[in-house]
Amino acid sequence: MKKIILVRVGEIILKGLNRPVFEEKLVGNIKKSLNGMGKIDVIRSQGRIYVEPAEEDYCFAEAMERLTKVFGIVSVSPVWKINSTFDEIKSNSVDMVKDLIPKNGFRTFKVEAKRGNKKFPMESPEICRELGGHLLDNFEQLSVNVNNPDFIFYVEVREFTYIYSEILPANGGMPIGTNGKALLLLSGGIDSPVAGWMIAKRGVEIEAVHFYSYPYTSERAKDKVIELAKILASYCGQIKVHVVPFTDIQLAINEKCPEDEMTIIMRRVMMEISERIANKVGALALITGESVGQVASQTIQSLVVTNIVVDMPVFRPLIGMDKNEVIERARKIGTFETSILPYEDCCTVFVAKHPKTKPKLEKILISEKELDIKDMIESAIENTEIIRIPV
Ligand code: ATP
Ligand code: MG
Repeated sequence: MKKIILVRVGEIILKGLNRPVFEEKLVGNIKKSLNGMGKIDVIRSQGRIYVEPAEEDYCFAEAMERLTKVFGIVSVSPVWKINSTFDEIKSNSVDMVKDLIPKNGFRTFKVEAKRGNKKFPMESPEICRELGGHLLDNFEQLSVNVNNPDFIFYVEVREFTYIYSEILPANGGMPIGTNGKALLLLSGGIDSPVAGWMIAKRGVEIEAVHFYSYPYTSERAKDKVIELAKILASYCGQIKVHVVPFTDIQLAINEKCPEDEMTIIMRRVMMEISERIANKVGALALITGESVGQVASQTIQSLVVTNIVVDMPVFRPLIGMDKNEVIERARKIGTFETSILPYEDCCTVFVAKHPKTKPKLEKILISEKELDIKDMIESAIENTEIIRIPV
């Protein structure tokens, strides 16, 4: 018997001829995610992936936790890999159930068997019946409940046989690196980390840009953004965060533009700088955490006026979500607690009491003529600090 991890994949199964490319990427991402945990073999077979540690004392719990964060994986199970003979299946099943019962207080079960190996002499219903009977003989406290069992005992007979009872759900999606790169505008708020996570889930490699208005926003506000990037990196591998010094630009906007247009002009400058950085690093799209109508700068009119600055697509995966839906997702992925730490963001420092909710592009363009901040934009890009976030 060997303890291993069974990894189930989802959508990449649909990829037809391209499937090996997606699978190889996923195998690479799995290896990266388990880096430093000890020697493993990662084996692909019949649409499944098996992670086989070399050492008996491998930390399975930690490995499973890391694997459930790898995009492209639908679920994982700790399984025992055994030879495909019914005697081995019986004796190992008894050993596995012996482990399970005291841990979980299980009283009812059913067996589900799948026979992928047609050379195996018993058919699935017979395996269920015989193995169920054998377990009942060995554990007098257990009874069978087909409709609502405390646990299902799974037996998959392939070239080898895999037995298990636990299935941990993962996030699905596509392997990171199979869908190009995008640049996430990462604030310290609740929304943008969720937006980045959702696009990364579709296999898109992420870099991040953060606009930083020191000393109007504190060192701790920057640390918070780095912390959020670290949480994202636990799903998508290494992330580079481009920290753009934004103070001079904000002061200029504050000084020269009508108060009610400040936010929208600031957002336009952010988009412009972000697109420039995206082009530099080979990102093909921008990602923001905007959602229609959430604040003045996210009315449709405002989105039109900010969107028009850039040529590349802007992905806004939260566009139709309510705040409470975003919060729920933020809690699930683990960014919420960090996002609500009370450090100011550059958008909250220079904020108008009554920002325009229906900005007109012609008027904004006139205000921006006054501004004339080309040099400031150049210098902000030049002085951008790149922070590499390790996993
Ligand atoms: P969040 O919770 O993401 O901060 P928000 O509701 O506060 O969103 P805004 O402040 O209007 O919304 O920002 C909208 C989007 O603009 C954010 O989701 C983010 O993508 C981007 N953004 C805002 N501030 C910054 C910043 N300082 N650095 C980088 N991106 C930013
Ligand atoms: Mg914000």
